[in-house]
Amino acid sequence: MPIETGRKNPILRKKSKKVVKFDKALKKFLKDMGETMLKKDGVGLAAPQVGLNQRIIVENFQLNAKKSRVITLVNPEIIDASIACEAGEEGCLSLPGEYGVVTRYRSITVKFHDEKGNQRVLELEGWNARIAQHEIDHLDGILFVDKVEGETRKAEKEK
Ligand SMILES: [Zn+2]
Repeated sequence: MPIETGRKNPILRKKSKKVVKFDKALKKFLKDMGETMLKKDGVGLAAPQVGLNQRIIVENFQLNAKKSRVITLVNPEIIDASIACEAGEEGCLSLPGEYGVVTRYRSITVKFHDEKGNQRVLELEGWNARIAQHEIDHLDGILFVDKVEGETRKAEKEK
């Protein structure tokens, strides 16, 4: 799947709609999104980044230092967040080569649907919570550069 890029790209700036149909097409889309994220060495991906303004994110969930697993969250909604916040560096597949420091909640509770439409709740911490907050922002047309403290840094060269 090709990645939408650019700070002013209208697809990346639009508020995405809730998913209402949990069918085979959605299942395939989620699978494709997960594969695209891994192929591009991303840690998370939101549907608008692949051209669809629907409330869907995938994340490479870190189980521990060595293991990770792709999780998909449909209609994710942050229902609780820690008072504690943390600053950390972020980048984005849609803004290649740009990095900057963003403050996020240390931990969050997310309510979402799985691929079958079942309601689920997940508690995320640290890095996993950061990725989810970054991806959920995409669903509201917000890019990390909107929240960056100070200047964004341009990578000298792409990996
Ligand atoms: Zn992003």
